[in-house]
Amino acid sequence: MPNVNDITSLMNSPSGIDKALVAKAFNFAKLHHSGQKRFSGDPYFIHPVETAKNLARLGMDATTIAAGLLHDVVEDTGVSPEETEKEFGKEIFFLIEGVTKLGNLKYRGLERHTESLQKLFVAMSQDLRVLIIKLNDRLHNMQTLEFVPEEKRLRIAMETLEIYAPLADRLGMSKLKGELEDLAFPYVYPQQFEKVKVAAEERNLETSASLEKIEKQLKEEFAKEKIQNVKIDLRVKHLYSLYKKLERKDWDIEKIYDTSALRIVVTNISDCYRALGIVHSLWRPLPGRIKDYIAFPKPNGYKSLHTTIFAGDGTIVEIQIRTREMHRDAEFGITSHLSYKEARNSGKVGQLSKNFLWIASLLPIFATAKPKGTGDGMPVQADDMPLWVKQLAEIHTETFNPKEFLDNLKTDFFEHRVFAFTPQGDVIDLPIHCSPIDFAYSIHSDIGDHVAGVKVNGKLVSLDTPIKNGDIVEIMTKKSSHPTAKWLEMAKTTVAKRHIRGALEKLNNIN
Ligand code: MN
Repeated sequence: MPNVNDITSLMNSPSGIDKALVAKAFNFAKLHHSGQKRFSGDPYFIHPVETAKNLARLGMDATTIAAGLLHDVVEDTGVSPEETEKEFGKEIFFLIEGVTKLGNLKYRGLERHTESLQKLFVAMSQDLRVLIIKLNDRLHNMQTLEFVPEEKRLRIAMETLEIYAPLADRLGMSKLKGELEDLAFPYVYPQQFEKVKVAAEERNLETSASLEKIEKQLKEEFAKEKIQNVKIDLRVKHLYSLYKKLERKDWDIEKIYDTSALRIVVTNISDCYRALGIVHSLWRPLPGRIKDYIAFPKPNGYKSLHTTIFAGDGTIVEIQIRTREMHRDAEFGITSHLSYKEARNSGKVGQLSKNFLWIASLLPIFATAKPKGTGDGMPVQADDMPLWVKQLAEIHTETFNPKEFLDNLKTDFFEHRVFAFTPQGDVIDLPIHCSPIDFAYSIHSDIGDHVAGVKVNGKLVSLDTPIKNGDIVEIMTKKSSHPTAKWLEMAKTTVAKRHIRGALEKLNNIN
């Protein structure tokens, strides 16, 4: 059982962190969760501590770590929102409230509107730190999913696979994404999981000897060529991503060259190319498999050199070469740029603002307008970015301040869309200021044509009540109910207006 009194791991992250704040949040959460138990039988407090530890490991600031410690206090203990806000201030309370709201969004329809639900998550989180806390909350919940009652497990695992892992991916947090997927995989697809696990184990057994040999030879050669501070790691492909690749390759694992790969991490870009030269002088590369993602980063900002070589003993091995900085970006994505440590200690503000452009390039993925010309392996062109991304980027070209960056990032690009639910959990995506009439017509014209009344979040409201983010809207219909001229004033969407006009004409012709 983890030691719940171990507060040091929350503190040793960035130097200069507000230790008093973290300690206060720690003690507050510990007090209010006392006596509560997890499904595993462990004290509940372990959960917020583990969540906060993950955040500290990512180098997040004290505010975020404190919010991580407190994230379940309002929802699950007797503490009032007012008291929490009074004790910890507006900013932390805002983060806790955001995490709680996201927790209430349940993924109900399998494969239905997953994309809208992901957007809803982003829209409702308003501050990327909310998402980052929520993702780390989910990570610990997935790590302890075996203790959760069976009937809940599948929904939680499915949500993780369909919503949380893709969000982590879009934030460039590939390490977290891989962990979440592999934790969910056995619950969602148990048979496929077993099959992939066995295939991967066999395959890795075959290649491990040759990988070790290659590693040894590379180390000698790098020493000879005076490439210093090299780190060579074995990277084993995550099982869920292997599964998806196997599905594409007719389950022929021989066609997959990166089930395990060697990862070479060096100090600077010129060492990347020198290392690639050394690799190719020792082993013959497979034609068409040399990829320069440093000159041409992937649309999500990923940078590395990839090559696949004939190891000489019949095995084929992938090798990835990158700098330490590229490695951190690839593993931690946006969080590697938001970390407090980074801003305080690196002193490389100019470097950060250069990196900002790729962070900005992640954002349109959430917005409806995707940047054009970002096909696989193609560089992201600043010209293809929506205006607001460029404006955001311009604000930050001089100095990069993570705090300010986050404030600007309150996903205001979402303020023009509203995401609401049907009682069945389907997400309906509408422009702002829409009425229940618009909501009804965007489900089906038949429903729209016979609206008799509406409940929003369980309460009867008038037909001109504007729909807000996260509302659950229940439309009541009656056969005898028909559109009136007044509906035209209440409707905002073209679809609704067109149908209402059509229905009014028909009614006039009959009369
Ligand atoms: Mn939680």
